[in-house]
Amino acid sequence: MSTTQIDRPQSAPHVDEPQSPLAALTPEQIEQLGREFDAIHDEVYADLGDRDSRYIRSTIKLHRHLVLAARALLMGSQRRPLWLAGTTALSLAKILENMEIGHNVMHGQWDWMNDPDINSQNWDWDTASPADAWRHSHNYEHHTFTNIRGKDRDLGYEIMRIDPHQKWHPVYLFQPLYNLILMGFFEWGVAVHDLNRAAINSGEKSKEQVVQELKAIGAKARAQIVKDYIAFPALAAFAAFVAGRGSLQSGKRSFKSTLAANFTANIVRNVWSYSIIFCGHFPDQTYTFSQAEVAEETRGGFYVRQLLGAANIDGGPLFHLLAGNLSFQVEHHLYPDMPSSRYAEIAPRVRDICRRYGLPYNTGPLHKQLGTVHRTILRLAFPGGKVRPKPGPYAPS
Ligand SMILES: [Zn+2]
Repeated sequence: MSTTQIDRPQSAPHVDEPQSPLAALTPEQIEQLGREFDAIHDEVYADLGDRDSRYIRSTIKLHRHLVLAARALLMGSQRRPLWLAGTTALSLAKILENMEIGHNVMHGQWDWMNDPDINSQNWDWDTASPADAWRHSHNYEHHTFTNIRGKDRDLGYEIMRIDPHQKWHPVYLFQPLYNLILMGFFEWGVAVHDLNRAAINSGEKSKEQVVQELKAIGAKARAQIVKDYIAFPALAAFAAFVAGRGSLQSGKRSFKSTLAANFTANIVRNVWSYSIIFCGHFPDQTYTFSQAEVAEETRGGFYVRQLLGAANIDGGPLFHLLAGNLSFQVEHHLYPDMPSSRYAEIAPRVRDICRRYGLPYNTGPLHKQLGTVHRTILRLAFPGGKVRPKPGPYAPS
């Protein structure tokens, strides 16, 4: 895989490196730690069954009920309370579908059920990224090369300077601004990012493939525009027209207010998923890695890199559900194929490994994690910048 244009290791500025906690472990300890992490995975997999399949099926059902309720409420979208209730229900439904269902089903977390629909090959989601392109850029690239500079294209998404190792360019002066735009239109940013500009420029990706992927994004865009900005507003307009005994005015108003509700729900979903996902790898606590550092990485070393490169967000069960359990980003990166509903259960065991091996366990409340992410985006818009201080070994409070 090629390096990105904005993060060529040979032109990277010199940055004072914090000592990686991996360096304090002996090869035997790293091997033992790898075995312990493998054991957690195998135990959970051996225990998967009815309880788990009931969970994902009821989550999908909950999503469908939320959509139905939202669409029904928005039939009366001209009335302020119904507009508010409908927009809230639709935003929640879109968030649930994207995070807890889409991301996790497409990861293959539920493939063990052998369900014809709930599996990584057949599932598609209500977002701009075509499933195939996303699976490659996320499941393979990001989860394999997590936080390796020049290899993990999710580090700054090719348009942001999120790590002081990245060479500064005047275009980054505008990143605080386009960061805001990315927040609102995150799904489109991810879709374009999946195209992989560097691979196109280097010729690694053929013209035919690019055309095919652009067509797939076009089809997803068309589906969303038709559904959210034409079909449902038209349906609401028709209902209002009939209820208003042929009043064109009321039909028009209903079309507009339903369209505004759908647009708002898409923006809310985008800001939410952006926030959860940016908190996964960009808070101060996380480490990035040079390619040389990981050249001879063992299984245990891989687990430690995932542990150091990811950060969790504290919260209650509802918060974790709406975050698609990516608030357990650490556990997700250790075990991307494990059903998300199991992350909360294994978190204490992961923390125990951190304690025994003197490793940090990155976590914090949403406002703190997000605050450090935005501070980095602001600071690194300008030249220079230091690696932020890293937490010490995990110690239970
Ligand atoms: Zn993932």
